[in-house]
Amino acid sequence: MGHDAWVENHSTRPHHVAVVGSGPSGFYAAASLLDAGAAGGPDVRVDMYDRLATPWGLVRAGVAPDHPKIKSVSSQYDKTAAREGFRFFGHVHLGEDVTREELLERYDAIVYAVGSQTERRLGIPGEDLRGSVASVDFVGWYNGHPDFVDLSPPLDTERAVVIGAGNVALDVARMLLLPEADLRTTDTADHAVEALAASSVREALVCGRRGPREASFTTTELRELADIDDLAVVVDPEQVPAGIAEDDTLSKGTRRNLEILRRFAEQGPDAAARHRMAFRFLRSPVEIRGDGRVEEIVLGINRLETGDDGRVRAMDTGERETVATGLVLRAVGYRGVELPGLPFDEASGTVPNTEGRVAGRDREYVVGWIKRGPTGIIGTNKKDANETVRHIVADLAAREPREHSPDEVEAWLRDRCPDLVDQEGWAAIDAHERGRGEPHGRPRVKVVDRDELVKLSRP
Ligand code: NAP
Repeated sequence: MGHDAWVENHSTRPHHVAVVGSGPSGFYAAASLLDAGAAGGPDVRVDMYDRLATPWGLVRAGVAPDHPKIKSVSSQYDKTAAREGFRFFGHVHLGEDVTREELLERYDAIVYAVGSQTERRLGIPGEDLRGSVASVDFVGWYNGHPDFVDLSPPLDTERAVVIGAGNVALDVARMLLLPEADLRTTDTADHAVEALAASSVREALVCGRRGPREASFTTTELRELADIDDLAVVVDPEQVPAGIAEDDTLSKGTRRNLEILRRFAEQGPDAAARHRMAFRFLRSPVEIRGDGRVEEIVLGINRLETGDDGRVRAMDTGERETVATGLVLRAVGYRGVELPGLPFDEASGTVPNTEGRVAGRDREYVVGWIKRGPTGIIGTNKKDANETVRHIVADLAAREPREHSPDEVEAWLRDRCPDLVDQEGWAAIDAHERGRGEPHGRPRVKVVDRDELVKLSRP
């Protein structure tokens, strides 16, 4: 092709990018790709895929239902979805319904925004007993993720033990202890509302393997515990002594967290409260025991040691403590899942990449947790996606767009996936859910059954 023809094609034919995964990182990548043309770059169209019928990833299925403000970020994603050049293809599972090779044939680039879909394991005896539940599953269950509807976590126990000292640990502990009236104004899936309302759990014991200084809670999440009705927050004054926050070597956030924990320790728990959230630091799970289901957990007591690299480590003192419980929630972090045909780093559970360009690949990119691991808050994904998109745009600008017929792609997908849910289909589901929630003062009542979702998506 002569140069003139190339220039003509280049200026008139858009590039087509498939974004696989419709969570925050996928949507930030899509928005940034759609902006490229206006910023003087190539004109880009985006097809966004999700294996579920519904978009928004962790915003729908991860963020705690009692945090509606955080969930309201979805209105930004709606704006992106309404833009010209954007299409949504829900219920299309990469690796099952379509292959990566088939996408590579049809698109100029693929962006994987698939997140971290599984849990980090503890690797201790009893981890798989009934009543030992990964937070990934529990969070999916209360948020109505179709994969976890049948989890039925045993809530017929007075005490739950939560392993981990991060925001997910706080989310699951809070959801267990939220007053029923508060729960009923959220978009918690109905099956979970009923189960939690009937729950016997009165105490959640949140265990961190290191000390309060090393916990990874964020300040807002710790502070809000004081505002929950009928909740006593229990912090041992010996673990969080006076003056602990007065240390200039600590970050501002850590100092604020320590001040809040110290306040809880000073106030002492409200004895009249129906529920208790207790924090216990320097405790590692060693064994989960029970006859067919969880009955107790053995915790190892740690001391702290600072390594040559400056990292504070939990060291086992050999002392043990046994806690009676019927429910252990493991909130020790998420983990990425290997994608067929892509390189994978087992240690970090991510796809090896350089600023989002997949190692050794030409037209494949990653954003979000599958790129950098399960860290940061939702907004972190914006900057992260922008970094990757800068490289995609530069790479696209140097290439001629491939032959691509949007209609043919859609026809191929509909043939392959008879249950495909498109943007209009999702809009119908969304309107239905919101409509059901409105009379009850709830943001939405989620539909969790796959067949019902497909039915609702049909005109
Ligand atoms: P996280 O912040 O990494 O916390 C994981 C916790 O598990 C840490 O306390 C870690 O301790 C502990 N842990 C890891 N392995 C362990 C083991 N073998 N035994 C005992 N403890 C172990 O992860 P996350 O809570 O899953 O949250 C993921 C990300 O989502 C975070 O960036 C979080 O801030 C974010 N998030 C934000 C919100 C919000 O903004 N409201 C809500 C939920 C999640 P060490 O520190 O010792 O490794």
